[in-house]
Amino acid sequence: MKRLVNPSVTRQVIDQFGFHFKKQLGQNFLIDANILGKIVEAAELTEVDGAIEIGPGIGTLTQALAERAGKVVAIEKDDRLIPILSDTLNEYANVSVHHGDVLEIDLPELIAAYLGDRRVSVVANLPYYVTTPILMKLLEERIPLHAIVVMVQKEVAERMAAAPGGKEYGALTIAVQYYSEPHIVCRVPRTAFMPQPNVESIVIQLKLRKKPAVDVISEALFFQVVKASFAQRRKTILNNLQNNFPVSGGRETVLHVLREADIDPMRRGETLSLQEFARLSDQFALLEQGS
Ligand code: SAM
Repeated sequence: MKRLVNPSVTRQVIDQFGFHFKKQLGQNFLIDANILGKIVEAAELTEVDGAIEIGPGIGTLTQALAERAGKVVAIEKDDRLIPILSDTLNEYANVSVHHGDVLEIDLPELIAAYLGDRRVSVVANLPYYVTTPILMKLLEERIPLHAIVVMVQKEVAERMAAAPGGKEYGALTIAVQYYSEPHIVCRVPRTAFMPQPNVESIVIQLKLRKKPAVDVISEALFFQVVKASFAQRRKTILNNLQNNFPVSGGRETVLHVLREADIDPMRRGETLSLQEFARLSDQFALLEQGS
């Protein structure tokens, strides 16, 4: 059996099939066995678990997942990789490869059809050009997952795991932490990939929460308030809400709501905790209900 996580085997498979990397599909294949081990370890898979891999490439991580999990479903967009995957994974009876764009696939249907009642995690070396849409799809659509363990661009991982007060803290932080608990697993140098990407990477584990981190009256309103609060990073929360969150009464109403939520109007969005955003959006919700 060909172990792919090795530069010369990867090169050999690529040459054998005459494959050419497509930068626009985020194709940077993993060639570092140590990092591969860390990803699989962080996924905490048991032999009865299910794993969904987004973008299997030539099957490097897929092989390792197949050896740990009960069943692996891999979704690959690039049709040129499908025949390669059927060759490199032909000895794994518990892998099923799907040709398609993960952003268009009906994941609950896929889970029901292939993973049934298994505990399911997403494990992937993500294509970086679509990291945020993929993660938001998994989180916002509340795909029933145990964990998400992904390789992402270093800066994106830092934004997901950020604490209030820093420049990395923003709307992505709030969305990720609302649904999950992030934990940085390890940093990954460019040399771990073929070809080497222009950026550094991080493996991050997101443990899905049973219920969101904060209780809010209206989830839609909560995320609207968050978005408006970060619209212009150097502005105060008062100015951002006044300009980007339309309410009747304008500035006076926003001041009143901030006071009711016990938040200083001169603070910036990046200093507010999830609990404070929840308090703030609940005050707007109460105002809406009262009017
Ligand atoms: N898992 C392999 C590895 O670690 O060596 C490849 C990872 S590579 C960073 C990203 C993979 O995602 C590529 O195989 C690429 O073709 C695939 N991909 C890109 N966009 C995709 C999409 N929207 N849906 C599914 N797969 C996608």
